[in-house]
Amino acid sequence: MHHPITPETRLAGMATRLYRRFFQPDDPHGWADYHCVEEPDGRFWIHTHGLRRWRLPELEFTGVPQDMRGHAHQLMFAIIEELKPAVATRAVGDIEGVFSAPGQNFRQMATLRPALREDTRHRNILRIVDWDRPVESGFPARLFASHIAAWAELADDPAQKEAMCRRALAIFPGYFLEMTAGADIDPHKADMSDLQHRANLSVYLSLAGALFAQGRPDEGIGYLEEAIARCPGWGQIHRGWLIGKYRRKDAFMNFWRDADIAEICARRRPANTTGPLPKLKRAASKKGKTRCVKRSA
Ligand SMILES: [Zn+2]
Repeated sequence: MHHPITPETRLAGMATRLYRRFFQPDDPHGWADYHCVEEPDGRFWIHTHGLRRWRLPELEFTGVPQDMRGHAHQLMFAIIEELKPAVATRAVGDIEGVFSAPGQNFRQMATLRPALREDTRHRNILRIVDWDRPVESGFPARLFASHIAAWAELADDPAQKEAMCRRALAIFPGYFLEMTAGADIDPHKADMSDLQHRANLSVYLSLAGALFAQGRPDEGIGYLEEAIARCPGWGQIHRGWLIGKYRRKDAFMNFWRDADIAEICARRRPANTTGPLPKLKRAASKKGKTRCVKRSA
């Protein structure tokens, strides 16, 4: 697909690029071009030109909703940074890293697949899709939901946080995982990567927090139950950890103290997905058992 080059299409003009080249020579903003092209359905095709400088193939997102364009660029730059040490031949396939915010408690995963494009100016381009998904899957909803989740964590204003989380749930509501999901997590240093990737757990927790902070505990509890129903094993272990740690008697802790995980699962999980909860091992909080897999991007 040929596309016109207009100020609308390009992320940055020449002046900005030259400035970056001069003052931040390693910054990919300065050396490559980033095109944002509207597709017939009103969504956007966002792609690079010029990554050859790092011996990388070009990258693209397809089907990006209008309000996700800024997020798409942030993710694109983070993924370029992740790939820069790799050579082109190793760039195809799965990637994993911290792409969104430095303090996020999960890693993000995506897959790069060759996209066949016929016009000569967009050959040798890799499409960023959700992890393990085919090239036709297009827009990586889980990756974008996790990106919003990471930023929602940092949002100070609860109303803004609520809006971000609701957008992330509209993009990817998360799956109801097996009953044992999250039961092996160490709550002291929880690595939420798997639960975020499959169930969008972080978004449910942030949304609940934003609602409690706005004096809407009943709605907040609804989303805590959604989180538990999606990740029952995690709910069970997280409950034990919270009760052991906090004595306060506010709506949040009262909910967790009274929470009957099995009952919540029976009520909230779709039919045929509810089984027995895993038996939890006692005293799993010894030092040294911590799985710390966080790494810098
Ligand atoms: Zn282009």
